[in-house]
Amino acid sequence: MASQQESDDHRALSRRALRQKLEGLQGAGVTHLPKRQNTSAQRMPTADVPTAPPVKSAEAAPIPRHPAAARPPSQLVQLDLVRHEVTACVKCPHLAAARTQTVFGAGNPRARLCFIGEAPGADEDRLGEPFVGRAGQLLDKVIEACTLKRGDVYVLNVLKCRPPENRPPRPDEIANCRGYLERQLAILQPEYICCLGATAAQALLNTDESIGKLRGRFHKFDRATVLCTYHPSYLLRVPSAKRDVWEDMKVLMRAMGVELA
Ligand code: SF4
Repeated sequence: MASQQESDDHRALSRRALRQKLEGLQGAGVTHLPKRQNTSAQRMPTADVPTAPPVKSAEAAPIPRHPAAARPPSQLVQLDLVRHEVTACVKCPHLAAARTQTVFGAGNPRARLCFIGEAPGADEDRLGEPFVGRAGQLLDKVIEACTLKRGDVYVLNVLKCRPPENRPPRPDEIANCRGYLERQLAILQPEYICCLGATAAQALLNTDESIGKLRGRFHKFDRATVLCTYHPSYLLRVPSAKRDVWEDMKVLMRAMGVELA
C-alpha cells in the first residue's frame, strides 16, 4: 500500500511540474511545441521547410553517369578562362599600363597547325587580333600558298601585350607570359607548330640558337612537331628571304600531308 501511495505522489508531482513548465513556456509566448521525433535521423528542424512529394523510384530522374561537375570543360570554355586571365593580367605593369588591350590569339581551336609569332604590334593592339597589320597580310599569303585559310589554323603570340615602339620582348616579359602560351597550347593540342621568327622559336624551344640554325629541321614541343622559319615582318625588310620561308612551308606541308598545287 505504501509503495502504491508513493507512486501516486510521484505521478502527481510529475504532472504538477509539467503543468508549471507549460505555464512558464506559455508565459514566455510559446504557443506550440514540436511533436517528438526520432532525433537520430534528424538533421535540422523541419517545421518551416517545405517537403517535396515523395517520388516513386521509377519516376526519379536518372543519375548521370558522369555528373557535369566532373566532366572537363570544353576546349572553348578552357580557352575563355585563360583569355579572361590574360585580359586582367598586369604581371608586366609597364606593358599593361601602355596597352590598348591584350591580344590573346585567334583561329580554329581544332586546328592541326598553330603559328606562333612574337608580340602584338600597333594594329594588333588596336584591333585585339594577332597578325592583322602588314606582316599579317603577308602571313595570310603564306597560308594561302599552302592551300589553307586563316580559319584552318590558329595564330597566337608569345607576348599578349604590345611592347612599346614595337621593341623585341624582354626575357622577363617572355617569362611572365610563358605560362599563358603553354596553357593555350595544352588546350589547343596542335599536331604542328610553326614558329615565326627567333623570339617565338627561342621562347618555345627554350634555346638561344639563332633562327638561321633552328630552321630547316623539325623540333618537338610536347607532342607537337615544330618547324621554325622567319617572321613575316622580316620578309617585309628582306624580301629575298621569302624563298627560304617557302622552302620551310613546303617541308611542313609535306609532313602534314597537305598537297601543294
Ligand atoms: S605580356 Fe603577358 S604577362 Fe605581361 S602583362 Fe601582358 S599578358 Fe601579362
